[in-house]
Amino acid sequence: MGEVTVRLDDLPLRDDLRGMTPYGAPQAALPVALNVNENTHPVPSEVADDILDAIARALRDVNRYPDREFTGLREAFADYLGHGLVREQIWAANGSNEVLQHVLQAFGGPGRRAMGFAPTYSMYPILTRATGAEWIAGEREHDFTLSAAFAAEQVVRENPDIVFLCAPNNPTGTPLGLDVIEAVYAVTDGIVIVDEAYQEFAPHDEPSAVTLLPGRPRLVVSRTMSKAFAFAGARVGYLAADPALVDALRLVRLPYHLSALTQAAATAALGHADTMLSMVDEIVAQRDRISATVAALGYTAHESWTNFVLFGGVDDPAATWQALYDRGVLIRDVGIAHHLRVTAGTADETTAFLDALASVGSRA
Ligand code: PMP
Repeated sequence: MGEVTVRLDDLPLRDDLRGMTPYGAPQAALPVALNVNENTHPVPSEVADDILDAIARALRDVNRYPDREFTGLREAFADYLGHGLVREQIWAANGSNEVLQHVLQAFGGPGRRAMGFAPTYSMYPILTRATGAEWIAGEREHDFTLSAAFAAEQVVRENPDIVFLCAPNNPTGTPLGLDVIEAVYAVTDGIVIVDEAYQEFAPHDEPSAVTLLPGRPRLVVSRTMSKAFAFAGARVGYLAADPALVDALRLVRLPYHLSALTQAAATAALGHADTMLSMVDEIVAQRDRISATVAALGYTAHESWTNFVLFGGVDDPAATWQALYDRGVLIRDVGIAHHLRVTAGTADETTAFLDALASVGSRA
């Protein structure tokens, strides 16, 4: 009996999901993987031991549902962020993608509109549309910067329900001034999400948007343990906001959405924040080495406050990407003409990338 092949079009998929493409950064087992802005340093072994102990303890009670309000973990995040934050101002979920999804489920949805400034994090439109809301792509300057006046002008014109400000911005690395956040907040009645996934890689004296929370009940500052904390596989993201906003997220989350094992692992890791973050300076040094070296090779490196570098002047990004792939180095073609993006790895991985790029020659 021949199987009938069912195509997506044959299924009663939601009309507004037809034609959409899922998030799809290639996951290839190459020796040097610098394509999704992970921290490529493993968790230090003394911390790993402690995390394992915490998971082992949690496992003894795994027959029971976990703490639905993840109280201990919220306290740990409040302590880590500082600025007098308390646990009622903290939310967490399985990666900051889920944190953002919760905000969109509560404040977006059918009939509403969310806006960001392209090029920006590719999941914003996907998450927005998946909740049934409309995505509006605003613009940046040609060098990918975003001034307070330009951002505010676009927000006034579009009047969205939710504004995403990625600070610093992925995939460009571009810093975002607090003045932009203040200006956007002042001209909207909607929710302003500042995505600080890469904040730990910014210069140490640069203030976080967390400092803007007092008196701004519609401001959300999201963070992740996936980047600086070397915890991408554990899937832990979090946000800080007004307690009332945080309370609203409880309406849309699934009960017990953070597993007992996740809560135990993340809380234990946060207890070692200093050690977990000890590789940040080393990664920043590799990032700056990438910027300097690609510039010496004739490319243009965009200023980056993150753990990656977007570089331009690539004649044929697909060809250069493939040539690097063939040399065992995986980076990212983010779809910006004549540009490629690379994550700063360990010193060895960074050397492997830079040598491979140099050997590709003549800007492929
Ligand atoms: N925000 C930005 C800007 C990102 O680059 C990423 C990861 N690429 C995320 C959020 C999501 O990270 P996670 O779900 O792993 O916390």
